[in-house]
Amino acid sequence: MSFIRAVKMKSKIILFYLLLSIFISVFIPDLFADNYFNRITMASDGRIVRFSHSPVTINIPSPNIPDDLKKYYIDDVEYALEQWASISEGNLRFKRIDSENADIRICWTEKMLSGEADPLGEASLVRFDSGGFYINISVLIKGIPSSSATLHNEIRSVLLHEIGHAIGLWGHSKDPNDVMYFRSKANYPTRRDKETLLKLYSYASGTPLHDFAIAELKSDISVTSDPSHLHFWLGSVYADKGDDELAINELNLALKLDPTLLKAADRLARIFQKEGMYDKAIQYYSKASGNEQSPVFLSMIGMLHFQQKKYDKAILYFEKAYQMDNKLSAAKNNALTAYHLWATDLIKDGKTESAISLLSKGLTSFPLSRMIYYDLGTAYDNNKQYDKAIEYYKKALEVDPSFLSAKRDIATCMNNLGAEKIKSGNLQESIEFCSQALDWDADCWQAKKNLELANIGIARIRYGSGELDDAKTYFDNVLKLNPNNSEAYVGIGDIYYKKGMYKDAIKYYQSALDIDPNIQYAKDGIAFIKYQTNANRIKLIIFFIALSLFLCITGMIIYRSFHHRKRITQPNQIRSKYYGKDNV
Ligand SMILES: [Zn+2]
Repeated sequence: MSFIRAVKMKSKIILFYLLLSIFISVFIPDLFADNYFNRITMASDGRIVRFSHSPVTINIPSPNIPDDLKKYYIDDVEYALEQWASISEGNLRFKRIDSENADIRICWTEKMLSGEADPLGEASLVRFDSGGFYINISVLIKGIPSSSATLHNEIRSVLLHEIGHAIGLWGHSKDPNDVMYFRSKANYPTRRDKETLLKLYSYASGTPLHDFAIAELKSDISVTSDPSHLHFWLGSVYADKGDDELAINELNLALKLDPTLLKAADRLARIFQKEGMYDKAIQYYSKASGNEQSPVFLSMIGMLHFQQKKYDKAILYFEKAYQMDNKLSAAKNNALTAYHLWATDLIKDGKTESAISLLSKGLTSFPLSRMIYYDLGTAYDNNKQYDKAIEYYKKALEVDPSFLSAKRDIATCMNNLGAEKIKSGNLQESIEFCSQALDWDADCWQAKKNLELANIGIARIRYGSGELDDAKTYFDNVLKLNPNNSEAYVGIGDIYYKKGMYKDAIKYYQSALDIDPNIQYAKDGIAFIKYQTNANRIKLIIFFIALSLFLCITGMIIYRSFHHRKRITQPNQIRSKYYGKDNV
């Protein structure tokens, strides 16, 4: 009996535990949940960020590699999309489109990506002002592209991971088997990946999960040797939550650990854009930089002044920061941008002399700066000192021979010099300047137009002085520049007319009319030549008729006079015969 009771007791306990576990697993699933949901907003400011529509569009351009290998790389993307779609229980559908305005845009790159990113790929969220967003996924094609299975397993892992970010998993799992583990090697999503994805889809995009993200980031920071980007993410979460002070602390820390982390400076600047924050921020950084001579803090003070367009102070702090740490290229670039914007404002206000003296000062701090040389060129250009402008544009080109804007602006200055020469009547010199303009920029249409004008001007002068062949050479030059210049056709028509080559003259007048049927001068020219030709023909006919008449009349007169003489001489002959006979 006691055995049976004991067995009954045991089965009751087992049943109790069984029911308890069923109850817990059904009603408190999170206790058993095997996912990393709490970590998925770490890099998205502590909020769910996912596409709310379906299908999600994706643009997959052809990578710049040999044609026979392209398919392997595109197949890898399609493989990754298929994997995520298949575990989403219908939540995710993808549609490949050719437009660059897709939700997800793949970019094949040969350049190394930023250190914070996964080594072979990077997904970045780009927000529109309207509130929408799209995702850029850069994938590194390293070394020599190939079709080898090992390489493509690696690329598939990268794509699975980056597309995971793109569909809303903006954090990293701690389990190396998961696709969303940092530097994952997984080729298939795990059950944890699936559960995390499904849970993500039970939340609307924009749902705040700041506290989860903050807890996870703090925990990661405590065990990471290089936590600069984690401080940046944490600062961004605090900023999104509205904890500005904590955000500023974290972002400053990120910048101190990695002064090249421009995203942190940018995020800080966005916090300081809030009303009433500037003065507070300047006080904060002035105090900080007073306690600690930190180039990063000096640079931030510069940034604050910069955003208020107080360029003089901004330049002062940026230059100080750069002098303290020559590696702080961000401070140098910011100083140069401040010079550029300040000078641009001065030029816009017509204060070109002030702009020139400001930029000359800038050159002493940053000699060999392409931007300052170029801006000096622009200032002189605006002042119509084209020779000086060309000199500085050329200096900008010495620093950067591929600087297209400098080449175009040299062409414009050369053309302006050419235009001045046209106005002053120095047409030959104008041709030289405008030809040089085209050497700098073959598309400088103003220079082509001025060259036409100058050539036509010279052609007319030569025509006027009777140098017809010379004149034709200049008209021909115009037609080489612009085969549709009707004025040149008319000019050549005139030359042929003057030479008496009427057929050619008509041909050229007609060409002018083909381009512009309203040129009355060409119409009159053709009509006049035709009239003159007809008039000549009539004159010739009249001449021949007159000649024929003259010949006829002359012939008749001769004939008649011959007959008359014959009649007179016949009796005389008889008489002589007679007298002769008498004489005999
Ligand atoms: Zn990642």
